[in-house]
Amino acid sequence: MRVARCQVCGVQLSRWALRFRNPARIAHYRNIHPDFVKWNGHFVRKLMASGLPLIVGVAFANYYLAQLYGLPRYLSLIFIPYFYIVVRAWRRDLARFRQDWTKSHPSDTLSQG
Ligand SMILES: [Zn+2]
Repeated sequence: MRVARCQVCGVQLSRWALRFRNPARIAHYRNIHPDFVKWNGHFVRKLMASGLPLIVGVAFANYYLAQLYGLPRYLSLIFIPYFYIVVRAWRRDLARFRQDWTKSHPSDTLSQG
């Protein structure tokens, strides 16, 4: 089983700290990276604000296409690329966040947290 690592400083976390679990529920993030918890919350809210209306809009605009292909398959056609875009955006923002964090905590990197 893969060991989960902190997305910011790279220390090993418990194996329950899965990558896409809410960081607010993981003690390491709450204690060591409260700003990461905040950052992630912002990201999720941004995502909800921008992504969901887009998906709903596209789905409605293509309602007849959906009937043609069948709704579940059509939704998966939308959601899979969307999920891919989201993961890429998250990783890109995370890289920036981690850089900032490393700059401001040069000695904390890879120490136990
Ligand atoms: Zn960390």
